[in-house]
Amino acid sequence: MTASIVVKFGGTSVSTKKNIQTIGDVVRRLKDKHPVVVVSALSKVTDLLLSAANSPIKEANEKIEEIRKKHKQLIRELWQDEKSANKVFSFINKQLQLVSQLLKQNNKDKRLLDSIVSHGEIISSYIISQWLTYQNIPSVQIVATEIIVTDNNFGSAEFLEKPTKKQVQKMLFPLIKNSIVPIVTGFIGATKGGKVTTLGRGGSDYSASIIGFALGSAEVQIWTDVDGVFTADPRVVKTARSIPEITFQEASEMAFLGAKVLHPRTMRPVAKAGISVRILNTFNPKNQGTRIVSRKERKSRITAITFKRKVVLLTIKAEQMFMTTGFLAKIFDIFKEANISVDLVSVSEVTVSLTLDMVDNLQDAVKKIDKFSRIVVDQDAAVVSVIGEHIGRYHHAIRNVFSILDKKHIRVKMISFSAQNRNISCVIKSSCWEEAVQALHDELLLGGGK
Ligand code: ADP
Ligand code: ASP
Ligand code: MG
Repeated sequence: MTASIVVKFGGTSVSTKKNIQTIGDVVRRLKDKHPVVVVSALSKVTDLLLSAANSPIKEANEKIEEIRKKHKQLIRELWQDEKSANKVFSFINKQLQLVSQLLKQNNKDKRLLDSIVSHGEIISSYIISQWLTYQNIPSVQIVATEIIVTDNNFGSAEFLEKPTKKQVQKMLFPLIKNSIVPIVTGFIGATKGGKVTTLGRGGSDYSASIIGFALGSAEVQIWTDVDGVFTADPRVVKTARSIPEITFQEASEMAFLGAKVLHPRTMRPVAKAGISVRILNTFNPKNQGTRIVSRKERKSRITAITFKRKVVLLTIKAEQMFMTTGFLAKIFDIFKEANISVDLVSVSEVTVSLTLDMVDNLQDAVKKIDKFSRIVVDQDAAVVSVIGEHIGRYHHAIRNVFSILDKKHIRVKMISFSAQNRNISCVIKSSCWEEAVQALHDELLLGGGK
C-alpha cells in the first residue's frame, strides 16, 4: 500500500489567492508523501446556497449572483491570462446553472438540499485542481460522490466502511502512485444508488478523516484559520491559547460539545486506524498547531472549555410509571425513530432530563412522549463544558466549577459528568453562556481554580 497524507483546507483557506498559494506550498512540500487534498466550499458559499434554497425565486437568484461574483473575483486574482480564467469561469457558470434548475423545484426536501449545497465543494475543488495544474503540480478533481458511499440520512449522512474503502482505494491509489494530486470535494458523498448526500455542516473535516482511514494514511492535516485547537474558541475568549497536543478522546469530546474547529464525527475513523491528526493554520503556516495523538496513560488535566450557546432542555416526568422497565427505552426509541440525537442525559427516580439541538421535527417527538408522561420543553438553555483527561481525578473539580458559576450568579439547571471522566457539562440559562465560558476559562485554565 502506498503511504499517503490527507490535507484538508476549510472555507477561509480556499477563499483568497494567498491561501491557495499556501495550499500549493503545502502540496509541494509533501510531494514525496503522496498528498491527497480535501477542500471545503469558499467561505459563506454553503450558507448562501442554503439560504437561496429557502428564499423566493428573485432573492434566490440574487444569492446565486453573489456566489458567482465571489468566485469570479477569486478567479481573476488567480489567473492573469484571459483564456485560462474563462475556462474556469465557464465551469462555474455551468454548475450555477444546475443549481438554478434545482432551485426551481417546489418540494425542497433534505435530499434536494444536499444536491443544491454540493455544488459549493464541486466548484472549489475544480478551481484548486485547475490552479495547481497551472502551477505545474499535476492534480485532478475528484467529486466525492464517486468515493464516499453513505447511508441515505440526507443532511447528516454516515459513511459505509466497506464500499467507501473500496472506492477510495480504487480511485485514489492509481493517481497518487503516478504523483497526481487528487483534489477531493469535502462535505459530500452519495448513497449506493448514487443520490448526493452531505455529512452535516462542517463535514469536510469528516471527509478528510474518512479518506485517511480508507487509504491507511500516515497523517491527516486539518488546515483552518486559527493556530490549532485552543483552550476555548479564540473568537469568544481572547485569553485562549493554542494547545500543542491533545488526545483523540479530548478532541472528540470537544467537537461533540460544541468546538466548531472539528466536525463532531471527525475523530472516529482516524482514532480507529491510529492515524495522527494535526490542526494547522493556513494564515500562519509556520505555526506548529495542535497534534492529536492516541495516548492511553496521561496525567489528569483540564484542557479546554467548550459551549453550545443554544440547546433544548427536555424534562420528562414519569409520575405514574415510576421508571417502570422500558420507560427509558420507549423515550429513546422515539428519538431514534425521529433521527434526533440526544447529547446529555441525567436520570433521577421520576425524571429524565436531556439536552439536544433544536431540530425541525422535535415537536412531533415531544407530542409522542407527552402521551405517556409529562414533558417540559425549555428552549432557554446553553451547555458549557469543561474538558480534560481524567478530569474527575481533580480534587474538587465539580465543586470548583459550581463555585465559579455561583460567583457569577449563574444557576446550573442540569449537570452531566461523564463516566469516562473527560467532561463536566453544565446546562445554564442561554443568555449566560459567554460569561460562564470566560469565567471558567480564566479560573480553570489561566490559574486560580485548578
Ligand atoms: P474551517 O472552515 O477551516 O473548517 P471553521 O470555521 O469550521 O473553519 O472552524 C474554525 C473555527 O473554529 C475557528 O475560527 C474558531 O473560531 C472556531 N473554534 C471554536 N472552538 C475552537 C477551539 N477550541 N479551538 C480553535 N478554534 C475553535
Ligand atoms: N462547506 C460545508 C459547510 O459550510 C462543509 C465544511 O465547510 O466543512 O458546512
Ligand atoms: Mg469547519
